[in-house]
Amino acid sequence: MTMAPELPTAAIVTDPDIKAGYAVDSSLGAHCDGDFTLVRARDLDDVVTVLRHAQATRTPVVPQGARTGLAGGSVAIPGGIVLNLEGLDTVTEIDPIEGIAVCGPGTINADLKAAAAQQGLWYAPDPASSGSCTIGGNVATNAGGLCCVKYGVTADHIRGLQVVLASGEVITTGRRTSKGVAGLDLTGLFVGSEGTLGVVTEVVARLIPRPEPPLTALAIFDSMAALTRAIVALRLEPHRPSLIEVLDSPTMAAIQALGDYGYPAEATAVLLVQSDRAGHATEDIARYAQVLEAAGASDLATADDPQEAELLMGGRRMLNPGLEAKGPRFLEDICVPIVRLGDLIEAAHRVGAAHGIEVTTSGHGGDGNLHPSFFFDPEVPGGPGSRAAAEAAFGELVTIALAMGGTISGEHGIGTLKARWLEQEVGAASLQRQRDLKHLFDPTEILNPGRVYWS
Ligand SMILES: Cc1cc2nc3c(=O)[nH]c(=O)nc-3n(C[C@H](O)[C@H](O)[C@H](O)COP(=O)(O)OP(=O)(O)OC[C@H]3O[C@@H](n4cnc5c(N)ncnc54)[C@H](O)[C@@H]3O)c2cc1C
Repeated sequence: MTMAPELPTAAIVTDPDIKAGYAVDSSLGAHCDGDFTLVRARDLDDVVTVLRHAQATRTPVVPQGARTGLAGGSVAIPGGIVLNLEGLDTVTEIDPIEGIAVCGPGTINADLKAAAAQQGLWYAPDPASSGSCTIGGNVATNAGGLCCVKYGVTADHIRGLQVVLASGEVITTGRRTSKGVAGLDLTGLFVGSEGTLGVVTEVVARLIPRPEPPLTALAIFDSMAALTRAIVALRLEPHRPSLIEVLDSPTMAAIQALGDYGYPAEATAVLLVQSDRAGHATEDIARYAQVLEAAGASDLATADDPQEAELLMGGRRMLNPGLEAKGPRFLEDICVPIVRLGDLIEAAHRVGAAHGIEVTTSGHGGDGNLHPSFFFDPEVPGGPGSRAAAEAAFGELVTIALAMGGTISGEHGIGTLKARWLEQEVGAASLQRQRDLKHLFDPTEILNPGRVYWS
């Protein structure tokens, strides 16, 4: 039997107060009921050493970025190792000719955008957590965001990866070149695998020309039918908006509670629409205004310049503080065919009412991707308004989204939170093939065990 290599002592953090900050992600109720080893990797060697040690000792490893995840995927496992990658945060290369950036997994999304911007380029994926989440976490969750409606999700912007496998072996996937079809698409397999197949240690990201600062249209709707009509019509436009975000009435109220962002109390929903098309944003916004009016918008405001455009987005930027202020909640992440968007919002309200739960619904309307929140009072021991009622409402809406032909997670991932519904969506045979693949890459199941594939 080979001796297990020692963990890299200099990278281990033992201070319990610091460790506490690395125990959980941002999902509701995330907790770790026991001690764990925290390694803050300094380089590739540290990652390899940790995995070799873990393999030899059969110790669970949780790859971890900035812990903004909302599915419970980067929560520490008692007795396991948290392998934090935030220290691998260097952008080593920007190649404007190939249109790529090479960076460490710990690079903050906004920092990669800033580095690309210096060369007139743009890394498009923009989760609302862009200022704090890491590219490694984005790759592992195939993160979405606000501009996916035009630019796609993280998977559409990753050309290649360096990955350390459970055995400690280092592989590269994909390519740097703009084309390439050699072999199976292992990059695609690792993107969205939530730390269960390997640890991402380098990312080759695709960059595109930097767009114009966007212009905005804000439309008020008095019915879900008109809202859905508007989104469908916008999707059919030859020049797709770069953002289509929706806020329902209770969400507007939560935001208005923090300040006056101009949302009328009696409205059913607000739709925010942007264009960033170089040289044509003014023309696009005028066209979108016509589309929104024809669909039945009851009020409309458009911006003529980027400053005004940002003002119209002011309320949307207060979404998270507004919802946070309302108290504890289960946060959904479901995606349905776009034509069913209004039905899904109404279903969320119905399900909430049936459980005595306050519900807000907002999200990336142009993708059919909604984030309903089910609020509860932790002091209520059971029944209407309780945590159990909110959890039940959360589960019911997942099933409703599936019945509409949707998915249990649009962008946050499966983690521990959605694992029990994965089979319902993909089917038993497909889930078994996924488990087979997991077994191939991680035969001793040390990488993020208990997550994604286990129900
Ligand atoms: C306020 C707020 C807004 C958000 N908005 C959005 C949004 O608009 N769109 C969206 O998609 N998400 C959003 N999120 C969720 C979250 O930011 C994303 O899931 C993000 O990609 C997680 O990145 P992270 O660095 O925090 O990863 P973590 O939370 O640390 O980890 C997430 C998962 O990735 C794995 N992982 C992390 N790093 C690696 C690595 N190097 N190798 C292998 N596996 C790894 C972990 O094991 C875990 O399974 C939001 C979260 C918050 C708190």
